[in-house]
Amino acid sequence: MRLILKPVGSVDDKVLLFLAIQLKKIFPGTSVRISDAISLPISAYNPKRGQYRSSLILEEVLSNLKPGEGDRILGVADVDAYSGSLNFVFGEAYVNGKAAIIYLERLKPEFYGMSPKEELFLERVLKEAVHEIGHTLGLSHCKNPRCVMHFSNSILDTDFKDYNFCDRCKKLVEEALRKFK
Ligand SMILES: [Zn+2]
Ligand SMILES: [Zn+2]
Repeated sequence: MRLILKPVGSVDDKVLLFLAIQLKKIFPGTSVRISDAISLPISAYNPKRGQYRSSLILEEVLSNLKPGEGDRILGVADVDAYSGSLNFVFGEAYVNGKAAIIYLERLKPEFYGMSPKEELFLERVLKEAVHEIGHTLGLSHCKNPRCVMHFSNSILDTDFKDYNFCDRCKKLVEEALRKFK
């Protein structure tokens, strides 16, 4: 799979480089390219909520996937977002589609009044990235609370789960990746 990482707005290079290295390990046979940043669509900002509407950003990310350049595109935005009836989302994806997005704001320990902790933050970022890419490969939510495909209702769920797939989901991912070879 050829995966494009797309910063949406300003994103710390460290996060992108970390993701590029780790995602290659988790999705065997995958190449990862960090692409130029695009700006956050102003129309997606809801000033009443102080949050971005995820669906609009996700559409924007997908429209930046040029045919022939990649199989999947993962947007990374350092903001807080919501979707539909959900008060917030850590990320969103087109299931069996080509695009996904993750949002960094609520993955920071500082958001919960804790002191900054880079290792914890990056681990959360990786979990959400793997989860959303998993959706684009056709995976749905997994009942196993340790599996990365488990739905995170709160950051506690994210912290409880692993950044990898359970055995069952891993098989589904391997099968999905085969079609790119
Ligand atoms: Zn999900
Ligand atoms: Zn699973």
